[in-house]
Order: sequence, then structure tokens, then C-alpha cells
Amino acid sequence: MEDKKLNDETMEEIAGGGYYLDHEGNKHIVKFGVDEGLCIGCGNCMNTCPAGAIMMGSENAVIDPDRCVNCRACQDACPVGAIGEQETIIPAEKE
Ligand code: SF4
Ligand code: SF4
Repeated sequence: MEDKKLNDETMEEIAGGGYYLDHEGNKHIVKFGVDEGLCIGCGNCMNTCPAGAIMMGSENAVIDPDRCVNCRACQDACPVGAIGEQETIIPAEKE
């Protein structure tokens, strides 16, 4: 998908892309992640994920951001609220 050109002072979400660009051209990638301090390793999220994006580590669930399609099913399935959106910011390339 191509990035959308934005007006100077706007911050606009790009539909379906799981990221948005701010007015400085920085890319904000929003994906679901697991709070390791809260996760109790029950596996509900892994069993619920339609994309096969969740695996169980030694103690916690781990989400593969490349497979996640941001459907929120895991967040709803988690009994302890350990799953939420996590943001990674990739700075704009300077020319
Ligand atoms: S948001 Fe959906 S696709 Fe992503 S890890 Fe959770 S259940 Fe899987
Ligand atoms: S549903 Fe929640 S507590 Fe259970 S393994 Fe997934 S993140 Fe951990």
C-alpha cells in the first residue's frame, strides 16, 4: 500500500493499514502486543487468533506483528487484560 500524502497540520489514519502518518511524515505503526507482566499464559488468545499470529513462549503469549491483522479478538479473549495496542514510531526519512 502506498502512503497517503497529507496536508501540513493533519494527522490521518490510513484505513486498513494499521498505521498512520503524522504531519511530519513519521510513521506510527499500531499493533497488538502482550504485557508480559500481566499475562498468565492461559493460551486463550492463541486459540482465538484467526491469523495464527500468537505463539506461547515459556511463560507468556507472543504476538507476531507481521501476521497480526488487528482484529482485536485476542484482546477480548484475554481474562486479565494483558493485550493492548502498542505503537512503534518510524521517523520520517530526511532528504
Ligand atoms: S489482534 Fe487479531 S490477528 Fe492480531 S494477534 Fe490478536 S487475534 Fe490475532
Ligand atoms: S489470553 Fe491473556 S493471559 Fe492468556 S495467554 Fe493470552 S495474553 Fe496471556
